[in-house]
Amino acid sequence: MRVVRTIPEARTIRRTLPGTWGFVPTMGYLHEGHLSLVRRARAENDHVAVSIFVNPTQFGPHEDYNRYPRDLERDLRLLEPLGVDLVFAPSVEEMYPPGFQTWVIVEEVSRPLEGAARPGHFRGVATVVTKLFNIIQPDRAYFGQKDAQQAVVIRQMVRDLNIPVEIVVCPTVREPDGLAMSSRNTYLSPEERQAATVLFRALQAAKARYEKGERDAERLREVMREVIRAEPLARLDYVSVAHPETLQELSYVEGPALLSLAVYIGKTRLIDNILLPSSD
Ligand code: AMP
Repeated sequence: MRVVRTIPEARTIRRTLPGTWGFVPTMGYLHEGHLSLVRRARAENDHVAVSIFVNPTQFGPHEDYNRYPRDLERDLRLLEPLGVDLVFAPSVEEMYPPGFQTWVIVEEVSRPLEGAARPGHFRGVATVVTKLFNIIQPDRAYFGQKDAQQAVVIRQMVRDLNIPVEIVVCPTVREPDGLAMSSRNTYLSPEERQAATVLFRALQAAKARYEKGERDAERLREVMREVIRAEPLARLDYVSVAHPETLQELSYVEGPALLSLAVYIGKTRLIDNILLPSSD
C-alpha cells in the first residue's frame, strides 16, 4: 500500500500499475461504511485507490470543517489489510494552490435538500471529485447511498461532462440499532447517540406506513416529522419524499421514492435516507 501526498506521485503510481482501477473518495476517519466501498472496489478491479481529504470547499463558513475528525494513522491501519494499492492524502495546498479559480457546478439536482440546506456544498463536492477523477483516472468510482443526493449529483456530472468513469453506489452500512455509520457520529454524547436512532426510526415508520398502502407523500413526510418531534434531543432540518433521480418532491408516490431527512442531534447534523419500494 503506497501512501502519497502529492499529485505527481499519485499519477506515477497510477501509470505504473496497468489494469482497471477502482477509486473510493473519502474524508477519512474511516468506518465500516467506507470499508464496504473499498471491499467492493477491491472485488471489481485490478487495483484500488482511496483518497483521504477533508475538502474545505464543501463546508459552509459555520460548519464543522475545523473540528471534523482526522486520524490518518488509524485510517491507514484500517486500509492496510484490504489490499489497497494507493492512498492519496493530499494537503489543502496541494489541491487548492494559490490562484485556484475553477469550479464545477451541477445545477438542478444540486438545488434541493442538502443543496438548499448547505449552499455551495455540492459545488465543493463536484469540484473536488472532478479533480480527484482527473488525478486518479479510475475506471470505477464507489459512493455510498448514505449520501444519496451526492451520488445523484456525481452521476449527473459524469454524464454531462463525459467523464470516463463508472459510478457504483453501494448500500448504507448501519450500526446494529439502525444508525447510519458516519464519521460525524463521533461528535455525539452517549445520550445523543441514543437519540440519533430517531433518523432511522422515522424512516422505518414512514416505510411501514407506505407498506400498509399510504401513497400520499405529505402524509409520509408527516409520519417522519412526528417521530422526530417525539425525540427531545432532535431538531428537524428537513424531511423529503422525492423522486430518486430528479430529487423533486412528490405529491403522490407512484413509482420509486427517496425518503430522506436531516436532523440536528444537539449541535450535530445527521442525514439518512431509504429508497422505496425497498428490498430489505
Ligand atoms: P465521507 O468520508 O463522509 O465523505 O464519505 C465517503 C464515502 O463513503 C461517500 O461515498 C459516502 O457516501 C460513503 N459512506 C459514508 N457513510 C457510509 C455508510 N454508512 N454506508 C455506506 N457508505 C457510506
